Amino acid sequence: MNASACQREAGVSCGACCGIFNLDLRNAGPDPVRARSDLLIERTRAFATVRFDQAADFVAYRQAREAAEESIPRFNSEIYACPFFGLIDWDLSTDSDLDVSGDINANGDRDGEGEGESGASGRTGCLAHPARTGLDHTQNFSFYGASICQAYDCRNKDQDADQEQRYSRLLARWFGQERAPGSGASESYARLMADVPLYAFLERFDGLIDRLARSDDPQSTPLCDFLRLARLRMATLASAGITSFEVEMQRHPDLEAELRSLLARGPLQADQPAMRDEANPISAQTIATIVANFKAMGAGTK
Ligand code: SF4
Repeated sequence: MNASACQREAGVSCGACCGIFNLDLRNAGPDPVRARSDLLIERTRAFATVRFDQAADFVAYRQAREAAEESIPRFNSEIYACPFFGLIDWDLSTDSDLDVSGDINANGDRDGEGEGESGASGRTGCLAHPARTGLDHTQNFSFYGASICQAYDCRNKDQDADQEQRYSRLLARWFGQERAPGSGASESYARLMADVPLYAFLERFDGLIDRLARSDDPQSTPLCDFLRLARLRMATLASAGITSFEVEMQRHPDLEAELRSLLARGPLQADQPAMRDEANPISAQTIATIVANFKAMGAGTK
């Protein structure tokens, strides 16, 4: 499988545009990441009963899963969460949790494809994709249909491809090891990879992503600032419900103002009230430091 932002490496894949993060699992148990992982495993096991040459099986699977997941709140009620999104390499013969060991090589990719003894890889994707079923039409049983599913590339995927996949490698290197228990899928990678406003903000600093991608020391500036920024962004509601359909924020002439907006934790939607104490939890000093350090590289800003 050719590496891309969608499928970086085993266990480090995205799928935000399939709506997996639109499912609000924050109250689904003590660990929302584990809850999402369990949901993916549940879907994948259920899909194993689908005979690829039987249309009725696809229809029945979709109806059953939509009913099973109907009660899960959505961050955005207008965006569909596709139940055909699952674990495309899950080994049903062993059906065991993934061992996510594997060293990172010089390219920032993981050696050994991250495969554990079970042979599962933690790779997420479309269970009905022709590459799995061997049949051209099977994604037509999904809500969007094959033509839309296969034609859609988010803004970040396009940008990443144009920039020799530096950003997806960077994210895989520093966040790809954060695997969900059970499925072994990296939620951190996916949520950052699909984050259009975050990537657009970083691109405002000429040469920043290239420099981050070449940096090895997590304590060094600006890599340390980027890792901190990514964590702060992942603490926001906007990141929790990421879909890749988010419009790029209007470029603010004031970089600090744009970063402040990026890190505001709520509300997710305009009609929701802000949580008073969470609306702007990041100090002005932190915002100013990150922007100053990114600017200090000597390159211009856009
Ligand atoms: S959101 Fe973008 S990077 Fe993620 S799977 Fe969809 S197209 Fe690929």
